[in-house]
Amino acid sequence: HAKRLGGDRQEVFRPILRPLGKNLVDLETDLREAIKKETLGVYFQPIVRLEDQSIAGFEVLARWTHPKRGRVSPSEFIPVAEQSGLINELGTYMLEKGAHQLAQWQRSIPRERPLFASINISSRQLLKHDLINEVKAVLSRQSLAPGTLKLELTESLVMANPEYSSKVLERLRALGAGLSLDDFGTGHSSLAYLQRFPFDTIKIDQSFVKSNGNSARPVLLRSIVAMGRDLGMSVVAEGAESEADALELYQLGCEYAQGFFFGQAVTAEEATRLLRDAPKQAVSA
Ligand code: C2E
Ligand code: MG
Ligand code: MG
Ligand code: MG
Repeated sequence: HAKRLGGDRQEVFRPILRPLGKNLVDLETDLREAIKKETLGVYFQPIVRLEDQSIAGFEVLARWTHPKRGRVSPSEFIPVAEQSGLINELGTYMLEKGAHQLAQWQRSIPRERPLFASINISSRQLLKHDLINEVKAVLSRQSLAPGTLKLELTESLVMANPEYSSKVLERLRALGAGLSLDDFGTGHSSLAYLQRFPFDTIKIDQSFVKSNGNSARPVLLRSIVAMGRDLGMSVVAEGAESEADALELYQLGCEYAQGFFFGQAVTAEEATRLLRDAPKQAVSA
């Protein structure tokens, strides 16, 4: 793409555009390599049931340590993957690794309420890829408790193409996948409208959750939580960073939270340790 970018433009732009384009191409090449060699990290961030602070599930997040550049943030490499089409390979990789790990946990650490894992799905995967058959294949390969493999899709992704999205989502749901509405509140659509889609879970965006001195915040939080519950959905708050955040969410009736207060994304080994060491309320209750 670097060539096309620089191609017909005035000479003066070349020194700026060429290195920029080259960096992105390199990043893409290296990311492709990391997926192929399976060095792309698959990490797990706990999603906690506030009532007893037990781990209810994990969000599966990609982590990449570049051989030369060191850690590269998902906010940098996910857009590169989306623009280059590599997101399909990345998505397949995360889906398979995440589902495999979940199946292993469900077998080795049985619990009263089966653990779930949620995988992020980006727009290109939903629109241009055979997501349905891929999810079907993963579900038939791994025996998982129904609804415990969840797919996270953002509000803006779904709203960009509501007719098509709702068809695909209905089929995913029929296969037994759980569906989480990610980053809710950032897309300016109402939960009442979004309820027409078969989501079972909403994840409140962290901008509503973190204490930030905004006096409208608890009011917004309270009404999102109440509406989610009234619509029969599970509600997860993202970005709980302090004990005060967690306590407030619990008092507002929010069922689940995720955030640095409870823990960052960790490796499968560390997550296994968390599951084994965790207080056993969830099992003995
Ligand atoms: P997301 O799906 O909304 O994921 C939540 C992000 O919030 C993660 O950032 C997580 O580390 C971060 N986070 C969690 N708790 C806290 C907290 O208490 N405070 C703050 N400030 N942040 C918190 P991360 O891992 O950097 O990922 C960023 C975004 O990149 C994700 O947002 C998701 O959209 C995308 N992403 C990550 N992994 C994948 C993947 O495997 N596939 C796709 N398609 N997208 C991914
Ligand atoms: Mg997410
Ligand atoms: Mg999110
Ligand atoms: Mg987010």
